[in-house]
Amino acid sequence: MEIFVFIFGCSMGSFVRLVADRYLREESWIFKRSYCFHCGMKLKWISMIPLISWMIQKGKCTFCHGKIPFSYFLTELFFGLIAVFCFYFKRETGMLDFFMIAVLFLIAYLDYKTMEIDILWLSILFLLISCQLMMRKLDVSILIGMLSVSSILFLTNILFPESFGEGDIYLMALCGSLLGAKKIFCAWVLANMITGFYAIYLIVSKKADRNSHIPYAPALCTGIVVVLLVNMISS
Ligand SMILES: [Zn+2]
Repeated sequence: MEIFVFIFGCSMGSFVRLVADRYLREESWIFKRSYCFHCGMKLKWISMIPLISWMIQKGKCTFCHGKIPFSYFLTELFFGLIAVFCFYFKRETGMLDFFMIAVLFLIAYLDYKTMEIDILWLSILFLLISCQLMMRKLDVSILIGMLSVSSILFLTNILFPESFGEGDIYLMALCGSLLGAKKIFCAWVLANMITGFYAIYLIVSKKADRNSHIPYAPALCTGIVVVLLVNMISS
């Protein structure tokens, strides 16, 4: 069974990367066949098998030999492994976590590229989290989780305008409602550590200065995903 889950996960990884790239190019995700970004030739089925196509073609297009980044291979492998992990620890309901991680990946990747979180991804996240919450007993802890980190970000923005993006606040409110106050706080601490190290790296390597804006959502999403996975092992 795990092998089918792995193949499904790799295929989802391939789809998520396709969605991200086409979103950036403002193209349709569904009504357009996969094509090479270098020469524009439509891909044959043999070039669309997750992981295997990249290995057989040694990371190159079969038509123009243009380079297919290694990150495509890594994304497929990452989602394959995450799918197996979610299924192993939570069986069928683990798939909701898996789809949530896929949306968090899109938010992180696209915020890194555009410094924006589209309301579309937040809406999908809202639906996935609502499904999970409906399976639970609804109580005040959901509201406390929702407000714990998001209210800190919101108040900071009032004192120091534009410290955080509006999307970051909604992201922490949504995920906080699912994870609860303690876990979303852990995710936030982790995210701040990642952002701190990344900022030091950018300043030391002179790629940014103290006034530069750096995307926050990739670190937030990483923190949330780590907490989600740890939570799956320990529950
Ligand atoms: Zn090509």
